[in-house]
Amino acid sequence: MQYSHIIVRYGELTLKSGNRNEFLKKLTKNIKLNFKEFKGYHIQTKRDRMYIHLDKNDYIDEILTSLKRIPGIHTFSPVLRAGLDIEDAKKNIDLLLHTKLDGNYKFKIQTKRPNKNFPNNTNELNNIFGSHVLVNYPNLKVDVKNPDFVINVEVRSEGIFIFTDFIKGVGGFPVNTSSKALLLLSGGIDSPVAAHMLQVKGVEVEMLHFQSPPFTSKEALDKIFSLAQELSKVIGTVKVHVVNFTKLQTEIVKRIPSNYTMTSTRRFMLKIADKIARKEDCLALATGESLGQVASQTLESMNCINEVTNMPVLRPLLTMDKVDIIKIAEEIGTYEISNLPFEDCCTIFTPKAPKTRPKLKKIIGYEARDDYSELIEECIASAQTYLVNTKAVNLFEENREKNLQDNEDFSGLL
Ligand code: ATP
Ligand code: MG
Repeated sequence: MQYSHIIVRYGELTLKSGNRNEFLKKLTKNIKLNFKEFKGYHIQTKRDRMYIHLDKNDYIDEILTSLKRIPGIHTFSPVLRAGLDIEDAKKNIDLLLHTKLDGNYKFKIQTKRPNKNFPNNTNELNNIFGSHVLVNYPNLKVDVKNPDFVINVEVRSEGIFIFTDFIKGVGGFPVNTSSKALLLLSGGIDSPVAAHMLQVKGVEVEMLHFQSPPFTSKEALDKIFSLAQELSKVIGTVKVHVVNFTKLQTEIVKRIPSNYTMTSTRRFMLKIADKIARKEDCLALATGESLGQVASQTLESMNCINEVTNMPVLRPLLTMDKVDIIKIAEEIGTYEISNLPFEDCCTIFTPKAPKTRPKLKKIIGYEARDDYSELIEECIASAQTYLVNTKAVNLFEENREKNLQDNEDFSGLL
């Protein structure tokens, strides 16, 4: 059997009718980008759904896997299309049932008829197709309450579409339909998931990573790039800024009382992130923090950390449980990478007993004893920007011309 089309349904997209055209353009572009390696298809984008026409089914598994990850897609179905003709529809139902000959199954016919010009109504069509199946397939029985599978029949102006499955997409909005946020990316499990959650809501996410060589290894940085590569999959390219944090971090550890170094480190990270975000026209910062997950992620701690910036700090995982975060990490392919052993700077410098309820007054007092402004400027000057896609990690400036060329489709990112 050969599917003729895949129907893609937008879900949440329909809510924002004002921006719909813009969204559909982005979604189509994102899908084409994800299908770059596939041949023999073309996309027809309509207001209420999308048809992916398939000349052949060579890439069907890859296409279905890829659609599951693209934000803005609510559900999709591989379908067979018949002409506006009952006999032709029956033939296609026969094709579909080839996979249902290996046992006794209960089925149900579910007809929809948006094409009101079609001569038979829904009940008649249910009866016609139901009888056809019962007469020709003795192993199949009708059970409308508890079927093993549903034969969906949709009568539209373009033809009669026949399919069994509604496959769930990731939902949300197409990536890059909303503005930019700068996400603090560590090598842990949480921040890549946070990046993904924002991407699903249409936010364009740039990443910022703090490394502290020689305390952190080259492998730790490679791990960040591998995570970014996974996160680039749905949109093609992501920007990653890497800041050298060694000098500032070692000064913090020297000068701030040990139970407050964690809070202070986070504050300096956010201060630097704030400056880079403004340079990059990002409207918000984002982290992978989740309430109460570790001692440092309390409201008191967030209160102390947030004080250094007046940008919104997005925390998409704030109220999520770790098991659910891990589940998403597994689905998006970051879990295994995050579990690699190479430690990042926070882990290495973790104090024995970080303050779980730090006091803002105290931390401000500790930090006021010294002038850190030069060290902060040095950090910002050390920032190197990379463009990361599934195939390569390129330094942005060194290959500026080439990068611009390679990514001309994504000029919004540059
Ligand atoms: P993660 O799994 O994302 O590392 P975590 O539960 O281990 O989170 P922390 O290590 O306390 O929590 O980090 C909290 C947040 O601070 C991270 O989610 C991330 O956004 C940011 N962060 C921590 N370390 C770094 C780093 N080296 N570079 C950039 N951001 C970082
Ligand atoms: Mg961490």
